[in-house]
Amino acid sequence: METNFSLEQLRDDGLAEAEKILRTCVHCGFCTATCPTYVLMGDELDSPRGRIYQIKDMLENDKPAGPQLVKHVDRCLSCLACMSTCPSGVHYMHLVDHARAHINRTYKRPFADRLIRIILQTVLPYPSRFRFALLGAKLGKPFAGLIKAVAGSSQLGKRLGAMLALAPGRIEGPNTHSLPGSFPAIGESKIKTDAPKDKDGEPRKRLSKRVALLTGCAQPVLDSGINGATIELLNRLGYEVVLAQGEGCCGALVHHMGEEDQAHTQARANIEAWSREIDAGGLDAILITTSGCGTTVKDYGYMFRNDPLLKDKAAIVSDLARDISQFLEEINLPKPEKKLPRLTVAYHSACSLQHGQQVKTAPKTLLSRAGLRVKDVPEGHLCCGSAGVYNIMQPDIAGQLRDRKVANIDKTKPDLIAAGNIGCITQIGSGTEIPIIHTVELLNWAYGGEKPEKLKERS
Ligand code: SF4
Ligand code: SF4
Repeated sequence: METNFSLEQLRDDGLAEAEKILRTCVHCGFCTATCPTYVLMGDELDSPRGRIYQIKDMLENDKPAGPQLVKHVDRCLSCLACMSTCPSGVHYMHLVDHARAHINRTYKRPFADRLIRIILQTVLPYPSRFRFALLGAKLGKPFAGLIKAVAGSSQLGKRLGAMLALAPGRIEGPNTHSLPGSFPAIGESKIKTDAPKDKDGEPRKRLSKRVALLTGCAQPVLDSGINGATIELLNRLGYEVVLAQGEGCCGALVHHMGEEDQAHTQARANIEAWSREIDAGGLDAILITTSGCGTTVKDYGYMFRNDPLLKDKAAIVSDLARDISQFLEEINLPKPEKKLPRLTVAYHSACSLQHGQQVKTAPKTLLSRAGLRVKDVPEGHLCCGSAGVYNIMQPDIAGQLRDRKVANIDKTKPDLIAAGNIGCITQIGSGTEIPIIHTVELLNWAYGGEKPEKLKERS
């Protein structure tokens, strides 16, 4: 795509990066076919190509964001299906992140919109505040009808309704799997695995048999069993697992809302926390069980590319970052001694895993090896509508995508659903009675751990 940025504009590194991305787009439109918003609405302005054109016009002409552009960029899920499809390698993620930061600087949103964004930004990334808010939502659930009647079909009313609908019945308190600490390996492992790989894909030569696990912000409040199962499994495989002091939200939630400074502050804290652990005892990997966070941690190197004090540490952290399924496949987890019952599992591939991190086969391979009958979900490339806080901010589109996802899952007639992202688990779980379980909980069960709680409830 031809661009017309001035030399003065290109002195700004962010704009120079955006320009490079824009130039790689050849406007072929292949990306439109796999974009969930284009599939639903059929409007070019709600397609990746249409958004790229609108962003180009805004940046090139140094315009403040207008309401039309904001509407179409806000409707983007950041699912990155367009990046998987694009034959030219357009880095849409970095482009839309840049556009969102520009929107934040130049556009004044309506009051109700600002209010809900502030609430989400100040609550969700902090587990204790999130816990407190969920408690309020639980108490408010019986009044959902009243709120709907008062707020009517306004956007605010719909968003409040979505928040109440997504609030879980059970809220987890802080426990040892969500607080800083170290979990030692359980002696010499009987399960023989390979060495983890370095950034060039070669087996690591100097092993510390020690990994860090991102505790995260929302996941331990919604389901602490996921990190619990991960720690147990890794300990049984001979790894010490560290929950680093000072680590917290990865920054993804606010980053996707255009809040660059807050996202960088949160990312910086994580980089420093893991760097201290690397210095103290070495780390073979930094493991992430929420794939939405994994995409962001793997991008820290890019986020801090111009920070002379942090860029090396950030690059090391990004190189060490692995989704848990990616790591278990990398160390060549062997077949378990005793296979699981032959249950049929619909594997839901989270967008952040399949498109953001390009991790597509590892979870399915591991689940099959464990003895489960794994089925792909039709239209598996389409988002379930979760996308961070999208299901709260865009409840209509998110609801349509969820219903479409659940209908596609039903076609596989599964006994259970497996997924690697708490956002998807919450979103899909709000539309089906079929148990939906994190991949690592099923793997922990296969390799000597407890049966996942959600399956126990069924038997
Ligand atoms: S597929 Fe890639 S090159 Fe083609 S229009 Fe979409 S973003 Fe541009
Ligand atoms: S990130 Fe997803 S919703 Fe956004 S333009 Fe790309 S495919 Fe469409």
